[in-house]
Amino acid sequence: MSNLSPLYIDGEWVTGDGEPFDVIDPATETVVGSVPTATDDELDRALAAADKGFRTWSATPGWTRAETLDAIAAAIRARAGELAALLTAEQGKPIGEAKGEVASAADYFTWFADEARRVYGRVIPGRTPDRRMMVLREPVGPVAAFTPNNFPWLLPARKIAAALAAGCSVVLKPAEDTPLSAGRLAAICAEVGLPPGVLNVVTGDPVAVSRRLVGSPVIRKVSLTGSVPVGKQILHLTADSVKRVSLELGGHAPVVVLAGSDPAEAAAGLVQSKFRNCGQVCVSPSRAFVDASLYDDVVDEIGRATRKLVIGPGSDPNTDIGPLASARRIDAVERMVDDARSKGATVVAGGARAEGYDTGFYYQPTVLTDVDRSMSVLVDEPFGPILPVLRYDDVADAIAEANSLDVGLAGYVHGPDLLLADRVARGLDVGIVGVNTYALAFAEAPFGGVRESGYGSEGGAEGIDEYLNVRYLNVPC
Ligand code: NAD
Repeated sequence: MSNLSPLYIDGEWVTGDGEPFDVIDPATETVVGSVPTATDDELDRALAAADKGFRTWSATPGWTRAETLDAIAAAIRARAGELAALLTAEQGKPIGEAKGEVASAADYFTWFADEARRVYGRVIPGRTPDRRMMVLREPVGPVAAFTPNNFPWLLPARKIAAALAAGCSVVLKPAEDTPLSAGRLAAICAEVGLPPGVLNVVTGDPVAVSRRLVGSPVIRKVSLTGSVPVGKQILHLTADSVKRVSLELGGHAPVVVLAGSDPAEAAAGLVQSKFRNCGQVCVSPSRAFVDASLYDDVVDEIGRATRKLVIGPGSDPNTDIGPLASARRIDAVERMVDDARSKGATVVAGGARAEGYDTGFYYQPTVLTDVDRSMSVLVDEPFGPILPVLRYDDVADAIAEANSLDVGLAGYVHGPDLLLADRVARGLDVGIVGVNTYALAFAEAPFGGVRESGYGSEGGAEGIDEYLNVRYLNVPC
């Protein structure tokens, strides 16, 4: 499967007439693949295929759809090692994390296989004995799905598994930096017998592709995981045709460390979670608020734990923190740290590109104190290995500050007083909260934000509803 092009249309691999672009290994800056820029004609063929695929798939019984989803999950698990290696090569994350991501992607297919068997409605008794009302749940139609570069397996899987379970067809556009994993997913779907046209994968210029797909009357639903600005652009594009939309956008996750916490324990969880995937996680803790009584100790412990992290290529099993996913990303991280430093922030750990790497997008895991809202790191999503740590005297102030941005994806509370932790957790204006844990993303749990972090849930019993319309029939009986 190694040379497959990710332009996958109507069950066929298409070389593509557009200019190809390279996929770069962020650890070495060498080329790991090349994918086509889809032309308008190719995008129109993908749309026509999705239209046809929808007719076939929406008429396929739920139990049959479930068998296909289960087969996809099994095929992913059977070759998890190979898939994880490719993921690391195109995205950079440590191989252990890549294996975890592939396993998690398989879980979404398993979860949604079961959900496919449960797509049914209800009957409401009529106002008179001769009437009854039926509520049907029906697939919304062909879906255009857009995914970012930080989880090239998990994020396409979340969308595709839910859409296929509901009976929808999909045109997926993965991120330009990391399109190869999506190609593997399409190959697995083809291999287990998903009918042609039900899943199509296109690559190319994001603006041109999104305009063509979202603007098409074929597409009835758009699902984007990405940054807030791109979410807003997509929302504008959907307005004219009033399409259904799910938006899983960026965040700036607060962590409130409560009085009475053990500083070493609080720091260990925070550092481990913060620097996973080099901080390129939408729910990555990115603003730590620490009670004044333990602030100095927690900062010391965070600094110590951060300096111990091993930087290296993701393919090395000893690596804790790999390169950032792209040259664009490392430039943004460098700018953000320089901005904070120039405005008076103290660099407790890191603060520069990693030494000893002539190639690769390596940046040191960085901890900042003495930060304030004049610095972009407290306002814009860092999406990189930067952890600002702030002190608070009154937990009410910490909650107010945590809620002061326009985004609200995830938040965390750490502390031994569970009643207080619960109060703080309920005070955070976010879609997802972890109390004494940073593990939040599971197939069986609804994942999604509030405010400018978007709307809609991926996963959980709620996930399939994003791909279903409700139809109500009032019938004689
Ligand atoms: P991005 O917004 O740049 O790209 C996301 C997708 O949109 C990609 O497919 C990209 O090609 C496409 N895109 C980019 N520019 C576009 C445009 N002008 N018009 C239409 N489509 C466009 O995001 P990224 O930098 O790849 O990923 C990081 C962002 O994704 C972060 O903000 C992160 O928080 C967010 N994210 C959110 C979640 C979540 O579940 N809420 C999960 C992962 C990542």
